[in-house]
Amino acid sequence: MQRKKHDLVVVGAGSGGFAAARTARDLDADVALVDHGPLGGLCILRGCMPSKTLIASSDAAHDVREAGELGVHAGSITLDFEHIMRRKHRLIKGFADYRIEGIEQFPLYEGRARFLSHCELQVGSDVVLEADRFIIATGSVVAPASAVHGLKETGYIDSDGALELQQLPKSLIVLGGGYIGCELGQFFSRMGVKTSIVLRSRHLLSGEDHDVGESLTQYFIQEGIDVHTQTQICGVSKRGEKKVVHVMREGVDGELEAEELLYCLGRVPNVAGLGCENAGIECHPITGIPTDETMRTTNPNIYAIGDVAAKHMLVHVAIYEGEIAARNAIAGVDERVVYDLVKTHTIFSDPQIAVVGETERALQTKGVAYVKGTYDFSEHGKAMCINKTKGFVKMLAAADGGKILGAAIVGPHASDLVHEVIVAMYYGGTVKQFIAIPHLHPTLAEIWTYPAEECVQKLAMAGAGEIEPEVAM
Ligand SMILES: Cc1cc2nc3c(=O)[nH]c(=O)nc-3n(C[C@H](O)[C@H](O)[C@H](O)COP(=O)(O)OP(=O)(O)OC[C@H]3O[C@@H](n4cnc5c(N)ncnc54)[C@H](O)[C@@H]3O)c2cc1C
Repeated sequence: MQRKKHDLVVVGAGSGGFAAARTARDLDADVALVDHGPLGGLCILRGCMPSKTLIASSDAAHDVREAGELGVHAGSITLDFEHIMRRKHRLIKGFADYRIEGIEQFPLYEGRARFLSHCELQVGSDVVLEADRFIIATGSVVAPASAVHGLKETGYIDSDGALELQQLPKSLIVLGGGYIGCELGQFFSRMGVKTSIVLRSRHLLSGEDHDVGESLTQYFIQEGIDVHTQTQICGVSKRGEKKVVHVMREGVDGELEAEELLYCLGRVPNVAGLGCENAGIECHPITGIPTDETMRTTNPNIYAIGDVAAKHMLVHVAIYEGEIAARNAIAGVDERVVYDLVKTHTIFSDPQIAVVGETERALQTKGVAYVKGTYDFSEHGKAMCINKTKGFVKMLAAADGGKILGAAIVGPHASDLVHEVIVAMYYGGTVKQFIAIPHLHPTLAEIWTYPAEECVQKLAMAGAGEIEPEVAM
């Protein structure tokens, strides 16, 4: 057995692990990366980048179909799935090659990692790495299919399989209405696949405010996606060539049938086989590796970041946590994570969704008094000009002083438009300051001034005792 020693060993070279290694190297640490491959990480290989590449094609198809309103008549369109997949492969290979170049600048140990003790990690069958500090960044895996009775026997695809399909199915049932189910479900529907989505909650994206999730649900239904809300999945089975989902809604049994099933009931932290018990690290197969705010695990010399730490399974969160863990591990500081703004997230459906800061649901749970302003894209001049009128914006401000507490956007380019509010909130801006910021005309971005103005008016009215804030203090 070969033995090697480093200051810091990072287990997992995905987005989080790579960011951690770079940060540690910038602090002059001798840092090594461990990964069993394929190298590149989830975001590049099987997550954000391939899914958004595919969605670009289905959105383009949709825009062409809708272009009649603009006087552009394209006739019947042809979708070349082989071309779409080849384009995706080409782009992903480019992104992965670039990342691998970066990874290979570190001492890299390729193989499955397993802790032997508090300071020893075995990689594959013939290397043992010793270090004073470790960062675990092993990501997540698709939640076990055993959650749905009969799924394994019937056969299904998950997001990995969906991104690698050779041929489109004629019909598809998406199990789960979270963001991956929404993004991929709409992709397949717009590619001409008869698509249904089955979910237990009242609306798609159950974690979001009702107005946000419900509006997306209605838009999906309008464009022909068969959305089954408040529906329990009792099991699945095979009938001839078809796959059958047995459901129950309001106490009544039912069945849905399709050529393929897309399993999107979540991801779980990837802790299997890591030997956490040998290193004094508490861990759980569903909730992952618990950490404190410095990203330390129950072993203070070992940190966990990204999906495996399961705070918010997003790339920018993995990078943020990785950088903080690396600084804490190498510089001996006690930097702490603050998720208030970092938990901002976006969903690449059409209309897109982006949520920054607090939701109304969270403010109400915390009993925080706030005022709310909203504005519909259907009322917004620029949105009308470009025929992108689906959705709305919402801004939430503290009843006491008008500080912006959060915002949500359902609408065109939401993933980009949200950044203006992120910046305003980063600097602790109030709605009054926000409306003083110049906005160009006619732009989609100027839509934010309307909810901000409504909040300013409501604050004045609340100050004059004319209205009550949304939640009594
Ligand atoms: C379909 C889909 C779409 C997504 N879209 C978005 C999006 O639009 N925006 C967004 O922010 N997030 C998105 N995500 C989530 C995002 O991809 C993840 O949150 C992020 O990539 C996690 O990064 P990570 O560094 O924690 O883990 P990963 O990137 O998964 O890296 C983990 C690494 O550890 C290695 N590894 C694992 N176990 C071991 C072991 N025992 N030994 C050695 N190596 C090991 C793996 O090979 C891998 O390289 C999406 C996810 C999916 C599935």
